[in-house]
Amino acid sequence: MIVLVVNCGSSSFKYQLLDMDTGKPLCSGLVERIGESSSPFSHKKYAGSESLSFKKEDSYADHSAAFQAVLAMLTHPEHGSISRVEDIKAIGHRVVHGGELLTRACVVGEEEKEKIRLLVPMAPLHNPACLQGIEVAQTFCSHAPSVAVFDTEFHSTMPPRAFRYGLPQKFYTDFGIRRYGFHGTSHKYVSRKAAEFLRLPPENLNLITCHLGNGCSLTAVQGGKSIDTTMGLTPLPGPLMGTRCGDIDPAIIPFLAAKGYAPAEIDRILNKESGLKGICGLNDLRDVHAAREKGDARAELAFEMLCYSIRRQIGALWACLGRTDALVFTAGIGENDSELRQKCLQGLERWGVSLDQAKNSVRSPEARRISKDDSKVQVLIIPTNEELEIARSALLALEKDGI
Ligand code: ADP
Repeated sequence: MIVLVVNCGSSSFKYQLLDMDTGKPLCSGLVERIGESSSPFSHKKYAGSESLSFKKEDSYADHSAAFQAVLAMLTHPEHGSISRVEDIKAIGHRVVHGGELLTRACVVGEEEKEKIRLLVPMAPLHNPACLQGIEVAQTFCSHAPSVAVFDTEFHSTMPPRAFRYGLPQKFYTDFGIRRYGFHGTSHKYVSRKAAEFLRLPPENLNLITCHLGNGCSLTAVQGGKSIDTTMGLTPLPGPLMGTRCGDIDPAIIPFLAAKGYAPAEIDRILNKESGLKGICGLNDLRDVHAAREKGDARAELAFEMLCYSIRRQIGALWACLGRTDALVFTAGIGENDSELRQKCLQGLERWGVSLDQAKNSVRSPEARRISKDDSKVQVLIIPTNEELEIARSALLALEKDGI
């Protein structure tokens, strides 16, 4: 069965076409700068272990034009891998915020669209783009059901003691202010994969999953369920990130307001000018490493702060779990940066974490164990695959609805 996974941003359209009989991608790609005079379109076709890349620049006025171009690419005799659009049996949409209204992946009809619309104030940049993706898919691929899969879903199992903030009750009841958590499809995918890797039933496992990419979040997973996570109402809190500040004293915000910063400006600074970038001017960790090698003290501090802030969150979630069986690293930084992994786990030997330095330094795209054989707590690297998880969730939702 062929499933198309769609991830819409306000001016971008990311997609992956998967063959769910094998779980393998057939094609993937990204259209950027939609609505501008020139939109880069990059596309890949997978053939066995090879992939063939194709790039072009064109102009797409809106998501509707971009989606039609994507469909033409997927069915292109040379670049595509299906002969007819009708071969797509379902479309899985990544939707950032499901709030408390939508806590399970669902087939999208008018009622579901209205709920996603109601959640726009919670995710003003993301949910409108997700809705646009759903609208165009329903227009140009009306034969295939559209299924919304939410970043927040996996965290809907958190108990109130973890998701409520110490704020007046009405902020929760009137405005829905609470911790929701994000990166849910990734945490869900790697926690299931970790159980498979360890050949243990997920119900008996306590994990801390560390999704470390441009955005970073950690989740305490007990018996296959999220019981706490570091992101909150928005994807801003937690450890330091590429451009996001992570946890800060909330009183800094009124302090800055009193200095004359407008709310929108504060929001922009905390999301786009902070984190690694705020400390050393660089947000890509590979650039931070290059600067460290040249002796840049600010880059050194930024890296130290990143590792320390991750270790701090591991400690907090560990205490919440009571017992931790395995730590799982994933995403761009988690999967690739051996020095960061080593530094994040420094000092945890007494907690039963014994990292195998040789295994930790091996680069590989495979799921693997990097702790010593006698380590009480396992340390794993599990490459994430959010598209596969979205496609899988979409098929499960269709099955549940008998479609
Ligand atoms: P996103 O959150 O946008 O999906 P990714 O998961 O792709 O991001 O992670 C991006 C981050 O991963 C960047 O900070 C990048 O520097 C980092 N990264 C990618 N490859 C490496 C590497 N080989 N070593 C260290 N960091 C890496």
